[in-house]
This record gives sequence, C-alpha cells and structure tokens, in this order.
Amino acid sequence: MLVVMQAHAAAADIEGVVAAIRDLGLTPHVLPGATRTAVGMTGNTAAVDAGHFEVLPGVEEAIRVTKPFKLASREMHRDNTTIALQQADIGPKTFTVVGGPCSVENEKITFETAEFLLSKGVKLLRAGAFKPRTSPYSFQGMGLEGLKILQKVREKTGIGIVTELMDTEHAAAVEEATDIIQIGARNMQNFSLLKRVGKCRKPVLLKRGLSATLEEWLMSAEYVMAGGNYQVILCERGVRTFNDHSRNTLDLSVIPPAKTLSHLPIFVDPSHGTGKRAYVPAMALAALAAGADGLLIEVHPDPDHAASDGQQTLNFEMTEKLLGQLKALAPVLGRKM
Ligand code: PEP
Ligand code: MN
Repeated sequence: MLVVMQAHAAAADIEGVVAAIRDLGLTPHVLPGATRTAVGMTGNTAAVDAGHFEVLPGVEEAIRVTKPFKLASREMHRDNTTIALQQADIGPKTFTVVGGPCSVENEKITFETAEFLLSKGVKLLRAGAFKPRTSPYSFQGMGLEGLKILQKVREKTGIGIVTELMDTEHAAAVEEATDIIQIGARNMQNFSLLKRVGKCRKPVLLKRGLSATLEEWLMSAEYVMAGGNYQVILCERGVRTFNDHSRNTLDLSVIPPAKTLSHLPIFVDPSHGTGKRAYVPAMALAALAAGADGLLIEVHPDPDHAASDGQQTLNFEMTEKLLGQLKALAPVLGRKM
C-alpha cells in the first residue's frame, strides 16, 4: 500500500504515518517526490485497510499497489528514478556508458583502460575482481587483489568503479571498493545475496537472469529495495533461447514494458548479449534508441589477449567510434551524454 501525503503535509504528519505503519508490524518506506511525499509499506499488507491511513493528518489518499513487486513498481513511484553518483547522474535525461575489461587482469591494463575511457568522457569503469565462470578451470578473477587495483585506479584517476559481488562473504570489501555493486545474471535469484546488498548503501546493478521473466527480475529488485537500498539499476544482458547465431538473445523488447511497470533505470549489456565483438555497436545503438538509460560494454586495449570474454570485447578504436555515434544519437532522444 502507498500512503500519498498532501502537498503541505508537515514532517510530523509523515512521522505519524510512519509510526502507524510500524504499529501494524509493517516496514515504512518514505518516498520524497517533486511535489509531495508518499510513504510506502512492505510486509503482509493483505489485511490492511486504506481507511486506517486516510483519517490520519496530512494524508491525501492510500492506494493499494496491485503488483507483487511494490517498491520497484511505478504504482508506488510514478517518476523515473535518477541515481546520483559523484561521476554521473543515471536516469531518464542522461545516457551513461560504463566500460572496461571483463576481468581485472593487472594494474597496467586497468589503468590504461580507465585513462582511455576518461579521455573519451566515460566516467565509470567496470571490471570484475570476482568472476562467475561456467568452468571451474577458467580464470576466476584476482579476488581481493583485484579490488585493491580498482581502488588504486579510482584514487589516482577519479573514475567511478563498477564491480561484481558474487557472495555475501565479500560484501563489505566490494562495497568499500566500488561505486556500483554488480549482481551477475547467475545470482539474480540468490536471495541471501540480494538481502545482503539491500543493506549496502551503494547502488546495485542487477543483471537479468538467463531465463528470468520481467516479473521475476523486478521481484529480485524488490528484495534489494525491501532492505532499504532503493538505488537499483536493472541490466538486460541477453537471455537463453534456441538461437545459435549469438551467445545470448539480447532482449531489447523488455525495455518498454520494464519502463511501464517500473521506475528503475535500465542498462543494456550488448557484450554478453551478443557474445561477438562485431555485433556490439549495432545493439548498443539500438539499446539507446529503445529507451535504455545506459550501457555496460566490455573494452580492453588488446581484446584478443584478454583473460576472459575477449571475443565480445571492443578495442579502443571500436569503442571510440561507437561513443561518437552514441553522442550523435543521444540528443535526438532527449538524453545528455
Ligand atoms: C560480466 O558482466 O562479466 C558477467 C559475468 O556478466 P553476466 O552475469 O551477465 O553473465
Ligand atoms: Mn564478461
């Protein structure tokens, strides 16, 4: 249920609603808006009556949220969410590119990529220190050593960091090292991990699971938000279908319904979505045209010798060309890059 406050409601009125929600054994979520504040509630609200709140001072109305995902739903939060980072505002007016090698491999490559990206106006670097690999014999990432490299690069260059958290054990270390915590496709329904990042105070980039429906994906976002972390970015990275012309099927058709059902920003990862370097630029441009708020692209100075995912990774030249095309297209679509 969502309690919409009157525009002139006093802070004490909002506090009253919060207390009334707590009295029912439910969790309040204060959601400030442009003109008025709303207070959402989560928990078992089936037996709660709207009238219970509508008599409280400063309350305009109480609305039942019909979707199973509450905090992630547009019913609860009408305006698109913007996530403000030191390096970038992620939301409906901007188009945010995040680039970098699949894995942190060493200091040199990480610095070189960060400096290249910054020189082209890309302010967020993504590289995995912990890698979810299909084979236990493939490179598993540098782990904590990789986090240290990312922290050093952030300190020296000012670039923002995005890196994956694979298990609850490393949550504190990853939260400390990164600006955005990535939850990988395979962990989209790792509920312990989702609850743990719900307690973090850094934004979470939530990749769509390999066979997840939009509702399942939004329910996973709800796990994070129910913990009090409202800063969730969805990331479409391709789903598993019968096709054998690409690694995954990049489902750009999920963007309009995701925008209808949810206020959360959505990114697209055309690198994992196609699995082939040559196909990445076309799908990156299509993602912008389809309404995505940003991209996650694998970029490496020498992709053919990358420790992981080189076949789908752009070199600097391809990245520069793509960025030029995105910069030309973004303003046409009302987005700043
Ligand atoms: C990655 O981003 O490098 C990755 C492993 O992605 P996904 O979880 O989408 O497979
Ligand atoms: Mn990868």
